[in-house]
Amino acid sequence: MINHLASEQNWQAQLSDLIVDPAELLQLLDLPVTLLPPALAAAESFGLRVPRVFVSRMQKANPLDPLLLQVLPLHQELTVDSRFSLDPLAERHSNPVTGLLHKYQRRLLLTLTGACAIHCRYCFRRHFPYQDNLPGTQEWPAIRDYIQADPELNEVILSGGDPLSVSNRRFFEWLERLESMPQLTTLRIHTRLPVVLPARMDAALLERLRETRLKIVLVIHCNHAQELDNTVLRVLQACKDHGMVLLNQSVLLKGINSSADELILLSERLFDAGVLPYYLHLLDKVQGAAHFDLSRREALAIYREMMERLPGYLLPRLVRETPEAPFKVPLLPDFGRANCE
Ligand SMILES: *Cc1c(COP(=O)(O)O)cnc(C)c1O
Ligand code: SF4
Repeated sequence: MINHLASEQNWQAQLSDLIVDPAELLQLLDLPVTLLPPALAAAESFGLRVPRVFVSRMQKANPLDPLLLQVLPLHQELTVDSRFSLDPLAERHSNPVTGLLHKYQRRLLLTLTGACAIHCRYCFRRHFPYQDNLPGTQEWPAIRDYIQADPELNEVILSGGDPLSVSNRRFFEWLERLESMPQLTTLRIHTRLPVVLPARMDAALLERLRETRLKIVLVIHCNHAQELDNTVLRVLQACKDHGMVLLNQSVLLKGINSSADELILLSERLFDAGVLPYYLHLLDKVQGAAHFDLSRREALAIYREMMERLPGYLLPRLVRETPEAPFKVPLLPDFGRANCE
């Protein structure tokens, strides 16, 4: 066995030792205590939650660190902005069976758990009622019937929460169920864990994912090059060696990755890790995240510069999700008529 791959015990221990107390986070990073009262207030509705290994990649004494800003509760979250809602994608309406979200043709999303190893402040699911919507063994027959009723469905996307925050035993149960359906060819896993808690990709999981007949597409979620330290790079390489296709999605976040320079660096660092950029999402307009928002014009100006400076294969698709459109809607800068003729 490759010795840098951790055991389940190891990552489970890390997962039960997350930083959840804003005071501890501020102290570890030598940050001023004046940040504490707003952090405590904002954490009341959506708690602080961050793995220690992720914090170790943050710069000390820098309140603007791009990793810190993704997890530190801030007073801006308490500002109510009427353009930002509790369920911006109206997901409560595309929820036919407990745990299923079926919005696009030929693929559907299965939320295995509401739990994540990290709480990203911009998360569009921060208000989603997961507790009422988690599939268990008793839901499997209904899920199977739903998939069978649509023979075109060939891909299941495991999402969450973070689908890899469940134990190997539970994950393998679901994998076996999905493998038993001949119509399914592909299993996609949307997860932030390979980045925020790389030990999660333990030897048993990697072996099991190598053996499956399903094509595995691992879509990681990383917003800034600084998230990708050498440990993460090694783990991603191991995923690749075990036959997975690796893609990344990011969210465009003001003050975190809102410049072409940072996003280009991210694409290049991902490429070093064997990962191709997939989507760059415009922020979903969720209550409490307005301070991360960029205007469409600002986003397109950044994206235009990325288009000029990156090879096509390192350019993520800039997209926006809407409740209505049957796909994620691409955004492109306007080149004017002259270029089209
Ligand atoms: C994003 C998403 C998908 C996957 O869309 P792709 O364009 O294939 O990546 C599927 N279902 C739902 C509900 C989604 O939000
Ligand atoms: S890991 Fe994903 S689902 Fe979990 S809080 Fe972050 S963005 Fe949201």
